[in-house]
Amino acid sequence: MIHPTAEVSPEARIGRGTRIWHEAQVREGAVVGADCNIGKGVYIGPGVVVGERVKIQNRASLYPGLTVEDGVFIGPHVVFTNDRYPRSITPEGRLLTDADWEPGATLVRHGASIGASAVIICGVTIGCWALVGAGALVTHDVPDHGLVMGAPARLVGYVCECARRLEPEGESGHWRCPACGRTFELAPLPGRVRRRRARLTARGA
Ligand SMILES: [Zn+2]
Repeated sequence: MIHPTAEVSPEARIGRGTRIWHEAQVREGAVVGADCNIGKGVYIGPGVVVGERVKIQNRASLYPGLTVEDGVFIGPHVVFTNDRYPRSITPEGRLLTDADWEPGATLVRHGASIGASAVIICGVTIGCWALVGAGALVTHDVPDHGLVMGAPARLVGYVCECARRLEPEGESGHWRCPACGRTFELAPLPGRVRRRRARLTARGA
């Protein structure tokens, strides 16, 4: 289903069962897999690749250089930037054109979710089943299952495939979901490592 007010390039590829709602725009060379839901006013730039069963909420902007794997959730008004050195003109004042830059590559891995109004700076990878909090500004890679929040975004925990926050089982590196019982082996959080080091240093002194 493509709503009559949506603008889908004849050079874009759209998978079966995908729904594209009011005023969305899908540019030339973009690929959208099967069974996706593309909300009102979404922009999918030239050459952007979107997997299957991806939900993209209203007004999200997916600029070139972005690859989204299967099962990803992109909240409303999320922006994926694609230029680490944004300028309109050269130092001499000449207008820059598309030929003057290469879009940075950004990857959102399987099952990840991006909260409303988050901004993702290009060049990062957001890991499988990771969760980016609403309004976050993501400037660094997010590990698999990572929960990041804030501006700039910091890793504050891990989430399960069911999106509930995981609880650490002691210092073993094992994490457990209180909702569904799944367990995971994940790296300690950066804050925890720092605290443990501080404890050890204090003990040694
Ligand atoms: Zn769970």
